Amino acid sequence: MLIVMHKEVAATDLDAVIRRIEDQGWEAKPIPGGERTAVGVLRNKGPVDPAMFLDLPGVRDVIPVSKPYKLVSREMHAKDTVITLGTGDNKVCIGADKLVLMAGPCAVESENQALEIAHAVKEAGAKLFRGGAFKPRSSPYSFQGLGKKGLEILARVREETGLFIVTEATDHEVCDLVEEYTDIIQIGTRNMQNYRLLRRAGQAGKPVLLKRGMWATMDEFLMAAEYIMSEGNEQVMLCERGIRTFTRHSRNTLDVNAIPYTQKESHLPVVVDPSHAAGRRDQVIPLARAAAAMGIDALIIEVHTHPEKALSDGPQSLYPEQFQELVSGIRDMNINI
Ligand code: PEP
Ligand code: MN
Repeated sequence: MLIVMHKEVAATDLDAVIRRIEDQGWEAKPIPGGERTAVGVLRNKGPVDPAMFLDLPGVRDVIPVSKPYKLVSREMHAKDTVITLGTGDNKVCIGADKLVLMAGPCAVESENQALEIAHAVKEAGAKLFRGGAFKPRSSPYSFQGLGKKGLEILARVREETGLFIVTEATDHEVCDLVEEYTDIIQIGTRNMQNYRLLRRAGQAGKPVLLKRGMWATMDEFLMAAEYIMSEGNEQVMLCERGIRTFTRHSRNTLDVNAIPYTQKESHLPVVVDPSHAAGRRDQVIPLARAAAAMGIDALIIEVHTHPEKALSDGPQSLYPEQFQELVSGIRDMNINI
């Protein structure tokens, strides 16, 4: 339920609406806007009777919100959310007019490796460096990441290059540490329905990049984002990274239909990861271009200077020259980076 107030509503009228919501044991979520102020009703168990609010001074309209996800939905929040990192000259806005590039290796392997790749992707136009310090691997015998040492390397990358950092928090226990070091907390596909972790990310003071579960419906995906937002963190990005299908010509299938659907349903920035969708280098550039053409807000791409020696996801990692080629191709599409 969304209670829309008259333009230039008096603070006392707004307070009265909030009080009436809270008296029912529900949560009131004021949504200020240029055109109008509205108040969302959250945590109601059953339907809400509009008549409860229509008689209050300052109330213009009461609109039912039909979606199970409220905070994530455009019904509650029509305008696009913009997530801003940094200030002044070193500022990046995700969800505004430019396509933001996040690039780097699957995993942080050493300081030299991370710095070499970071310089290359920065040179090409990336604004964020990606790289896992904690890796969720299918095999317990595969490289699991450098842990805290990896986070320290990421901090060093930021210091030396000015790139912002996005890295994954694989579980509740490491979230404090990841939050301390990173600029954006990544929640991976395997954790999209780890509700305890989602709630923890919702309490973080940093933006969250939520990857869609490889088996998740859109409702499940958007409800996972709702978990984060319901804890008070409004800085959430929705990342399509490919879903499991029957195909064998790629690791996953980039669900391109999900892109316009997400853009329509939600005000949150949309990020696309063509690397994990493809699983193979030769498909990454075409998928990235397709996503860019659909007006997404950011791309997250795996890049490695020596992919044949990479400890994780080498076959899908672009060489720096290929990343550069991708960036030029997108610029040729008249898309601002
Ligand atoms: C990654 O970004 O390296 C990663 C593990 O991604 P996903 O969770 O999408 O598999
Ligand atoms: Mn990877």
